[in-house]
Amino acid sequence: MSKIFVFSGASGVGKSSVLKQVMATRQDLRFSVSCTTRAPRPGEEDGVHYYFMSRDDFEEALSHGEILEHTVYCGNYYGTLRSEVERVLAAGHDLILEIEADGAMQVKRLFPDTITVMLIPPNGEVLEARLRGRGTETDDIILARLRRAREEIVISEKYDYIVVNQDGGVRQCAEDIASILHSEHLRSFRMKHVTSRFFGEE
Ligand code: 5GP
Repeated sequence: MSKIFVFSGASGVGKSSVLKQVMATRQDLRFSVSCTTRAPRPGEEDGVHYYFMSRDDFEEALSHGEILEHTVYCGNYYGTLRSEVERVLAAGHDLILEIEADGAMQVKRLFPDTITVMLIPPNGEVLEARLRGRGTETDDIILARLRRAREEIVISEKYDYIVVNQDGGVRQCAEDIASILHSEHLRSFRMKHVTSRFFGEE
């Protein structure tokens, strides 16, 4: 049975590095490429990191029901394409959405079995240092992202799991997340295909 995992975390907390390690160890997991109206960062490729879109195109896709969930994050639209989710689930794979908390709650409402995982930094100072160290955003954007990060920490209580990214702890976080994924496969309500084998036709 395919499962949907939502993976959130403040900007700069290290989501991409952690996710990369997780994906390398789980062949059954597919990443949902989101669409956004934000400009690509150096090294980001269209169709790989995001589908980069104009505001008009995004709004048109929204009005045609092509976007499953969306949010406005620091002035830009971000959304999950319905087609992306349907394609992966139809192929029987697990799906991971790397989206922020507002979208996470929308997905949980649509698919109540969704498993939500929030990656948080050990504290605010570490997060600010990481965001500034990345050197890809202006001061205004960094401050807006820090504000949003604080809001996300409050919302993290609504998540199923919280993983803390201690400094340099990408490997540990990836292991934590891999064990969450593994345990979720073994939840009793997802094991009916096995337990039912003991009660054949009588
Ligand atoms: P960034 O600009 O740093 O790539 O992403 C900013 C925020 O948008 C991150 O928290 C990221 O998880 C979130 N995000 C990326 N794609 C989506 C999406 O499709 N939907 C929602 N709701 N958030 C997204």
